[in-house]
Amino acid sequence: MKRRKNIGLVAHDNRKKDLIEWVKFNKKILRDCNITCTGTTGKLVEDVLNSEVLGHEFVVRKMKSGPLGGDQQLGALIAEGEIDVMIFFWDPMAAQPHDVDVKALLRLTVLYNVVTASNRSTADFIISSPLFDSDYDVTLKDYSSYLHRSLEA
Ligand code: PGA
Repeated sequence: MKRRKNIGLVAHDNRKKDLIEWVKFNKKILRDCNITCTGTTGKLVEDVLNSEVLGHEFVVRKMKSGPLGGDQQLGALIAEGEIDVMIFFWDPMAAQPHDVDVKALLRLTVLYNVVTASNRSTADFIISSPLFDSDYDVTLKDYSSYLHRSLEA
């Protein structure tokens, strides 16, 4: 991944306040990132960043709202190598109508070795890491044998 990070930001409703506080706190660093969000999170993040940082226009790439397919769209971006860091504040106290989509997205973060945080402490450690400001070689597991497996019984 390049020095300028492609960062995905998502929060379930009960955790949007936490994510917005984190975004405000890290606004200067986020100015140098490409930000992609699910729909509702994206609108909030864009509005707060633009009201906090004058003289710079933040343009957040917004997918559909999570329950309407936004998590799956983010998963597709991960599979295409377009997301380096995923900050996903999911709700540990409420079942979501799109739980399976959330699980699928988190599975792809592991499969593609995407830097991932589900809580503020981890997000703080990630964004303050020297690696956040550098190029970094992501190691991907070799799945070629899976692709070439025999389907014969
Ligand atoms: P939202 O979706 O940003 O549209 O609220 C988040 C989610 O539920 O995954």
